[in-house]
Amino acid sequence: MRKNVIPYGKQDINQQDIDSVLEVLKSDFLTQGPKVPEFEKAIRTHTGAKYALAMNSATSALHVACLALGLGEGDSLWTSPITFVASANCGLYCGAEVDFVDIDPRTYNMCPIKLEQKLIAAKANGTLPKVVVPVHLCGQPCDMKAISALAKEYGFKVIEDASHAIGGRYHDEPIGNCVHSDITVFSFHPVKIVTTAEGGAAVTNNKILADKMSLLRSHGVTRDSEQMVGESHGGWYYQQIDLGFNYRMTELQAALGVTQMQRLSGFIKARHHLANRYYEKLSNLPLLLPYQLENTYSGLHLYVIRLKLEEIDLSHREVFDALRNNGIGVNLHYIPVHTQPYYQALGHREGDFPDSEQYYKEAISLPMFHAMTDQQQDEVIRVLTDILVKVS
Ligand SMILES: *Cc1c(COP(=O)(O)O)cnc(C)c1O
Repeated sequence: MRKNVIPYGKQDINQQDIDSVLEVLKSDFLTQGPKVPEFEKAIRTHTGAKYALAMNSATSALHVACLALGLGEGDSLWTSPITFVASANCGLYCGAEVDFVDIDPRTYNMCPIKLEQKLIAAKANGTLPKVVVPVHLCGQPCDMKAISALAKEYGFKVIEDASHAIGGRYHDEPIGNCVHSDITVFSFHPVKIVTTAEGGAAVTNNKILADKMSLLRSHGVTRDSEQMVGESHGGWYYQQIDLGFNYRMTELQAALGVTQMQRLSGFIKARHHLANRYYEKLSNLPLLLPYQLENTYSGLHLYVIRLKLEEIDLSHREVFDALRNNGIGVNLHYIPVHTQPYYQALGHREGDFPDSEQYYKEAISLPMFHAMTDQQQDEVIRVLTDILVKVS
C-alpha cells in the first residue's frame, strides 16, 4: 500500500463521538436502549418527517420499505441504473421484477421525461411499476415534483434513496421530509455524510407504513396488545404477527449517530466549500463539472467529474489509473446496475440505457469528504491538472 493516499471519501470521528460510544459500552444497554430512539428523534428533527426508524443498513431499510408498500411477486420496481446495487436488489428480495429508467445526462439522476415515456408504454402493456426508487446521486436531489406528479397519475409508490443526500435540500425543504414520496431511506456507512459505522434509516409521514417497518425490522414480533390477535398472556408475552428480520441498529451505532447528526450542517458546509474550490480550479480543464438542478442544494456525498474524452489523448482508464498511481484515491460511482452479470442473467441488456452507459465511460469520483483540507484538495487538483494538461 502507498502511503498518504487521499481517499474519495472518509468518516470524521471526533472526541465527542468517541466519548458517546464509550459511554454506551459502560451502560446497561448495548442494544434496544435509549440511544436508538434518541437518534431517531434527531433524524425526525432534521428532516421534519413524522416517523424515523433506524436500522442496521440502508439495504435493510430499502427492503422493509418495499415490503411495507406491499411489493411482492408479480409486481415491479423501477430505479436508476446509476446507483449502488442495493437500490435495485430490494425489489428482487421481495420477489418483484426490477427495471430501470435512464438518467438525465445533466444531473445523472433518473430522468422524469424518460420515466413518463416508460410509464405510458407500461400502461399500454399492463406492466406499470408498484414502486419507483429515485436515487439522489452524489447528494443532488432528483426532480421530485415531477416524479411525485407521475406517481399520482400512474398510481405507483415512491421510495427516495437518499443514501447520499442527508443534509441536502429540495425547494428549500430538507431531503427526508417525504413531502414528495412515501418513504425516504438514508445510509450511515462510513463513506456517507453521517456515519454509524454500518447503519441506515427509513423515514415516513405515514403511521401505517412506520408501524409495518417497525414490526419487520424486528422479527415481525410485537409487544403491543393493540396489534395482537386475542388476549395477552401476561408480562412476558409477545406475538409474531408477520415474517420480519433482525435489522435493528445497536446502541453503539446510534450513539455515534447522535453526535454525528449534531455536526451535520458543518459537514455540509465543508463539502460545499470544497465543491466551490473544485469548481473554480477545474473549470478550464477538459471536464464536465457537476450541474446543479434549480431549487436544489446538494448533500454533496460525491464529487463526480466527466472527462471530455474527445479533447484528451488518454483513455478514461488511463486518467483513472494515473490519478490512483499518484496517490489520489479516486473511484467510480457507479457501474450501471443493468450491466452487472446478475442483472444480465435476468435479461437486462447492455445498450438498454445509453445515457447511463455513456456516463459510466467518462465519470470519475474525486475525493470529497468534509475533513479534507484545502492542501489535500490542492494536491488532487495539481495531479489532475498535470495529467490532463500534459496530454490535451
Ligand atoms: C450506500 C448505498 C446504499 C446501501 O447502503 P448500506 O447502508 O451500505 O446498506 C444504498 N443506496 C445507495 C445509493 C448507496 O450509496
